Amino acid sequence: MDSTKTNKRAASDRISESDDDNDHQNVYDKKKKVEAPRLCPYLDTINRQFLDFDFEKLCSVSLSRINVYACLVCGKYFQGRGTNTYAYTHSVAESHHVFLNLHTLKFYCLPDNYEIVDSSLDDIKYVLKPTFSKKQIMELDTSSKRSRAIDGTMYSAGIVGMNNIKANDYCNVILQSLSHVIPLRNYFLRELNYSKVKSPLKLHILIQRFGELMRKLWNPRNFKAHVSPHEMLQAVVLASDKKLKFTEQGDPIDFLSFFLHTVDLALKSKEKPSIINRTFLGHMRIHVRKIPPLELEESQRSELLNTVEYGETIQESPFLYLTCDLPPPPLFKDQFTENIIPQVNLYTLLNKFNATTEKEYKTHKENFMKRFEITKLPPYLILYIKRFTKNTFFVEKNPTIVNFPIKNVDFGDILTPEIKAKHPCTTYDLVANIVHDGEPAQGTYRVHVLHRGSGQWYELQDLHVTPILPQMITLTEAYIQIYELRKENSPSDNTDNK
Ligand SMILES: [Zn+2]
Repeated sequence: MDSTKTNKRAASDRISESDDDNDHQNVYDKKKKVEAPRLCPYLDTINRQFLDFDFEKLCSVSLSRINVYACLVCGKYFQGRGTNTYAYTHSVAESHHVFLNLHTLKFYCLPDNYEIVDSSLDDIKYVLKPTFSKKQIMELDTSSKRSRAIDGTMYSAGIVGMNNIKANDYCNVILQSLSHVIPLRNYFLRELNYSKVKSPLKLHILIQRFGELMRKLWNPRNFKAHVSPHEMLQAVVLASDKKLKFTEQGDPIDFLSFFLHTVDLALKSKEKPSIINRTFLGHMRIHVRKIPPLELEESQRSELLNTVEYGETIQESPFLYLTCDLPPPPLFKDQFTENIIPQVNLYTLLNKFNATTEKEYKTHKENFMKRFEITKLPPYLILYIKRFTKNTFFVEKNPTIVNFPIKNVDFGDILTPEIKAKHPCTTYDLVANIVHDGEPAQGTYRVHVLHRGSGQWYELQDLHVTPILPQMITLTEAYIQIYELRKENSPSDNTDNK
């Protein structure tokens, strides 16, 4: 019995050893044992300001992803650690001695090849792979404590800049917004929640990378006050079969829509709805009626209206976001109205969904009238304010400013009394506001997010992080917004024991 166990152990040791070793290594090296952990005299040669674990974990020489080590002196990645491997050669040539295996999180001293076990290196491990306990997660939104990066920059966890590698600001604003949707963030901060979910490899990589990004954005012990979304974006390119790229400007709504649908697909199970659906999914009824062709006689038209074909049909339709239409901007401008930017109230836009407003829809053959009746509001409501229209030749942008309150937005007004009675609360607060600036199809995106711990709003545009007054947010060309449902209907209700 015992001997079988020992044999199994020995076998698994051999496997992990060969996993850990490098293709380039010869047979003699493989036989050589790694020495027992000991104190390393080179720990003070580590340069934490050079360490960046946000980029692809591949060897800077061989470009292989297998068995990659970070040199903790210069920050570069090299493959292997046995004699004649790239890491080994680097250690000898440059006299850089401390290395971290990016997969096993073990430290080694090269070329001597012994493992370093020292708790003073735990901060490096944490930056490579931050973890969050349930208690830490609970405290994220109540603390206003700020952190200090290696270069002295002060930052708040969750409020950090994100690199624009080429033209990925349209993705960055969505990723930043989603990182402030609490149930989604909390789910992804703990790898245990999704690591065992079985999904196709491309989707598996996407959710892994998103989780890693969330943990980096919320890491209170990061070495720098910004994060690169590089690995996440590569996973997006892969999972979208290159439909989404970060080499040219894209539309955040395309990215958001792709992300929500794909992550839902990846996390779907028979037991319960995915975190995406639990957070964002609402329901509506679409009432549709066909309009008789206009070229017919009036009598024929009214006759048709009595037929089944032209009667009203109802489609049940779940939604992850609501598309709001802006009123068309004035076509002709005189010298007085030229500089006036049209404005509209958010509640006017929401009337589209009040079950009575009818809107005309055309296909190339037939015309329809549609009414939208919301039947269930989600915990987090995403509004997509349609600003761009694509014509045959160019993209047009509607510059209308939407006036909206930041707090206490009551979506109950658009519900029918019967539906409203089923919702204990219909009041929402804004948590993220994405804005487009500049010309259509070009221009740039920025996002406003709320830091709950301090109650401070911030504007994030790639690496730039600036505090902003809430009243400034409502003066912008809002494009995508996320609202959060309040727990209680009114402040006087919060006496309930929780
Ligand atoms: Zn080095």
